[in-house]
Amino acid sequence: MPGDEIEVQAAVAFASDQPYKTTTLALKAPAANEIRVKIVATSVCHTDVITKDKSLCEFPIVLGHEGTGIVDALGDDVEGFEIGDHVILSYDFCGHCPQCQISKPSYCDEHGNLNFAGTRPNGEKTHRSEGSDTADVFGSFFQQSSFATYALSHVTNTIKVDKSLPLELLAPLGCGVQTGAGTVFNTLEVKADSSIVVFGCGCVGLSAVMAAKVAAAKNIIAVDINPSRLEMAKELGATHSVLAGDFADAAAIVKHIKAISHSGACQYAIDTTGLATVLRQAFDCCGPMGITAMIAPGLPGDEVSVEMMGLLPGKILRGVIQGDSVSKDFIPKLIDLWQQGKFPFDKLVTQYDSIDSIDDAVNAMNSGDVIKPVVIIDADYAS
Ligand SMILES: [Zn+2]
Ligand SMILES: [Zn+2]
Repeated sequence: MPGDEIEVQAAVAFASDQPYKTTTLALKAPAANEIRVKIVATSVCHTDVITKDKSLCEFPIVLGHEGTGIVDALGDDVEGFEIGDHVILSYDFCGHCPQCQISKPSYCDEHGNLNFAGTRPNGEKTHRSEGSDTADVFGSFFQQSSFATYALSHVTNTIKVDKSLPLELLAPLGCGVQTGAGTVFNTLEVKADSSIVVFGCGCVGLSAVMAAKVAAAKNIIAVDINPSRLEMAKELGATHSVLAGDFADAAAIVKHIKAISHSGACQYAIDTTGLATVLRQAFDCCGPMGITAMIAPGLPGDEVSVEMMGLLPGKILRGVIQGDSVSKDFIPKLIDLWQQGKFPFDKLVTQYDSIDSIDDAVNAMNSGDVIKPVVIIDADYAS
């Protein structure tokens, strides 16, 4: 194939309202600063779903941003990796802007360009469809596009892990799990004996619940509309569960949560739903100097309002990307906690056995039946 391209199978999104279609594409050879990874597994994240369903990208595109796999080829300038290394892929960052320089790379000036543009940083596409002379399919989603048999990543978003670890399980660590746990450990720095409320018990919210338990929070209050999700939250460490549908209105939910928290209000609140009304409830559950973390931003143009008097007593409403995680440092910590039995994120995972099952995985996640679908791309590795 021209220019050392390789043939790959990719689950291509052709339009917001069409299913994924497994398609043969040509993938460019790694650029000097790129790593080619043979994908073993990828999980599906709500960001993949929203990006496609709300047309927040250009089509056709290869999505997927929670990949794991094995290093297959290295660009000439790549250092610190060898062919055969086992890796987890995460979000990308530039490494030299003001936020990257203070170890807050999730707020990188280039966050949008590197993770959502659908191209290499220089604007090139990496995937070519059969019969086309030039690369004509968008990719480079989070500088990986893991819904494919191979991906191109950067040193900055590639995390080497021990070869004894199960790559088919680790995929969610690269985004969803580190976002929830990172918000507790890195952003909020949840203290022992505190009260925290988590709205929304998907992968991110349940990862926050598990982390709050590790942080020895006294009251860990999980809120959802789905009773089975609340059961899972209690299994993972929630001390209280709140079924939103049991209450007449938002004010009643807030009143109930404040009554549970031992000091009359929570010190920390996390909203994972992306709904302005729920974010407001989260904020209202916090007392003086309480911090509310907004993890899901809703859609472009969405706004939230809080009462100015309510903000006055030192309260903070804070947007959070990727749980303020420096993935290279943080993911190994999560793996360590998991190996100690303190962070059982594997309980969130339901496995799917082929690249053709991404639509099934998305539908099961959307319906609430599955918390975190992991799609096995390389069945030979996983068996
Ligand atoms: Zn940066
Ligand atoms: Zn994600």
